[in-house]
Amino acid sequence: MSKINDVLVIGAGLAGLTAARVLADAGKRVQLLDKSRSVGGRLATRRIGEGRADTGTQFFTAHDPEFQAFVERWLEEGIIFEWSRGWSNGSLEETRDGFPRYAAKDGMNALAKHLAAGLDVRINTEIVTIQHLACGWIVTDKENTIFEGGALVLTPPMPQSLKLIEASKISLDPAVFEQLSSIGYEMCLTALLHVDGEMALPAPGAMQRPHANLSWIADNRRKGISKTHIITIQMGGNYSRALWALPDDQILGKLRVDLEPLMGGDSWSILEAQIKRWRYSRPLNPMSVTHVLTGVANDSGSDETRPLLFAGDSFADAKVEGAFLSGLHGARALVGKMS
Ligand SMILES: Cc1cc2nc3c(=O)[nH]c(=O)nc-3n(C[C@H](O)[C@H](O)[C@H](O)COP(=O)(O)OP(=O)(O)OC[C@H]3O[C@@H](n4cnc5c(N)ncnc54)[C@H](O)[C@@H]3O)c2cc1C
Repeated sequence: MSKINDVLVIGAGLAGLTAARVLADAGKRVQLLDKSRSVGGRLATRRIGEGRADTGTQFFTAHDPEFQAFVERWLEEGIIFEWSRGWSNGSLEETRDGFPRYAAKDGMNALAKHLAAGLDVRINTEIVTIQHLACGWIVTDKENTIFEGGALVLTPPMPQSLKLIEASKISLDPAVFEQLSSIGYEMCLTALLHVDGEMALPAPGAMQRPHANLSWIADNRRKGISKTHIITIQMGGNYSRALWALPDDQILGKLRVDLEPLMGGDSWSILEAQIKRWRYSRPLNPMSVTHVLTGVANDSGSDETRPLLFAGDSFADAKVEGAFLSGLHGARALVGKMS
């Protein structure tokens, strides 16, 4: 058995990292657990040869004053920069909202690594079962390593969190379970193309077409995070679902056909191509509350309940800002319940 923690946080994406920081600052012993090889979740950046590409989140906006204050601090610390105030064919032409769009200087994953500094994070740790015993929450990973904590925070995309809850036979209040089960996610096929030459993308090197098959095209070199021209291309939700089961080479074949009329093909050629599949990219119907904090009775049948917090971008208007606010407010509520 590992050390006994006050709180176990499953998922070291933005919501989990933010929640863990609030809990640690409140004096709680926190263990973060993530199945991936790095922290960050969908704040993901991949190296391709000499280059680099953001593969998940491309940029974020800030509307909430508390989130804005954190954004100001990250700007001052030199972690993030303002990339644009909108995109050709997307927000710039359709809405002209003029809000700053931020990105991280060394790729989005660098922001996650910055937030993880000083936290106790265990990566390559996929949690497969959860138990609630008289002594507290016990979670077990694929290697049968056990972690124990007084409270549990679940931050994976909601369908993944609920799969874990169901597989572990944890009984939630039926009304809570029904609400959480209604949250669905959009799939996103993402292509990463290392190209020789330059695509004719409008300034600042990205194009957004919200309702098109290829909904986002961006050059990571022009974004300033890559030495070479690595292009990130996201396919829209319907198109991603339609192509999902095809092998990568067939998806890339269709993508070339879609790209040709948009970008021509004379000034650039593809040196290397990869496909990244995001089964859960963005929630289709996030809950308007910032989190759900509930209590679960332990398996021994006593009346005692232990806190279980659901947080992440399934709440608070989704996206980067929503995930942050969910982690922040969820953890504060948990601290209140534990003290
Ligand atoms: C392709 C794409 C493009 C996007 N573009 C934008 C954008 O431009 N702007 C914007 O604001 N947002 C964008 N988003 C959404 C944004 O990335 C997310 O809303 C946000 O990063 C979610 O953070 P999170 O912490 O809630 O979840 P995640 O980042 O998904 O974190 C959850 C973590 O849980 C871990 N996990 C899951 N199951 C287990 C388990 N059983 N055991 C251990 N660990 C587990 C995962 O490895 C992951 O690290 C995009 C997302 C995608 C995929």
